[in-house]
Amino acid sequence: MSVPETMKAVILPAPGKMAVSRKPVPRPGPDEVLVQVAGCGICGTDIKIRDHGLPGQPPFGSFTPGHEYAGTVVAVGETVDEFAIGDRVVVHAHKGCDRCENCLRGMYTACLNYGNAAKGHRCNGITTDGGLAGYAVNHVNTLYKIPENVSFEEAIVITTAGSPLYGLENTGGYIVGETVAVMGPGPIGLMAVQLCKAMGAARVILTGTRENRLKLGRELGADLTINVREEDPVAGVLKTTGGRGADLVIDCAGGDDSLQQCLEMVKRGGKILLVAFYKGPVTADISIAVRNNVTIYTERGEGGGSVGRALSLLATGKIVAKPLITHAFPLEEVHQAYEVFEKRIGDPIKVLLRP
Ligand SMILES: [Zn+2]
Ligand SMILES: [Zn+2]
Repeated sequence: MSVPETMKAVILPAPGKMAVSRKPVPRPGPDEVLVQVAGCGICGTDIKIRDHGLPGQPPFGSFTPGHEYAGTVVAVGETVDEFAIGDRVVVHAHKGCDRCENCLRGMYTACLNYGNAAKGHRCNGITTDGGLAGYAVNHVNTLYKIPENVSFEEAIVITTAGSPLYGLENTGGYIVGETVAVMGPGPIGLMAVQLCKAMGAARVILTGTRENRLKLGRELGADLTINVREEDPVAGVLKTTGGRGADLVIDCAGGDDSLQQCLEMVKRGGKILLVAFYKGPVTADISIAVRNNVTIYTERGEGGGSVGRALSLLATGKIVAKPLITHAFPLEEVHQAYEVFEKRIGDPIKVLLRP
């Protein structure tokens, strides 16, 4: 396959600024492949990356964001036999250094050399160039072959399922017969609803503010939804669980009061999983957790190979992605795409860009 010398790429020249520029097409190292990007999703993290940058992010200038992408392998490094030219692949963002104690234990999303590219760490789209470009280089550890019955677009949306699935693994994973409350019907919350049902939860309660999102949540498997504009979510969860509270509460909302609500709606001895990033410091009566023997779990990114596992759930029909794909733009219209996403024009769930 012939690979051009240069490509179109989104760059971040200064805080809050984006531009479509031309950059050299990167070349794969010995254990890397070159992916011709078919599409790249944007999420809330991309707004933070554009506006002020995240820890480990390269200086503003020619850095290319985009951490949710899929495409076709067009070149492989000399040691690569895991992938071949022509393979359709989807990525996960984090590649650990493979030399720190966390990486040795498989916790590559919590790599102790996070942001240190010289030591082998990469997080494409966050600390190293990402997929809002014609091509991207990926280490073989960060790629999954897309099953034949799955489209590029669906595979891109599946990257969103990686974090809640890894979070569920961290909580112990076994939720058969349990009642799970999911706060926040964004793409991650809607994936969390589906994952919990696929993994055997007896009942999933979804809370949020927008009726059309809650309706979609019900279509995707939520047994009960609570519109927090009309009903107090804590009272709603307690009412439907006979006053006990949910076995597991997953915060995909990240609101100022959502941690407090998690503490008040989880059962004694239950679990809380924090998936959302909060906008800033939040206040909650953490003594409730101590008094009630509640355990709080977190996750960082899509550890545990969870993008690949979620892809398998999709390929076997246990979860779906298509209803979450609402908007797609050519790469040149990146400003418009971000505007639609940020201002929620036309109720976007997942906005994709196609180079
Ligand atoms: Zn993201
Ligand atoms: Zn590491």
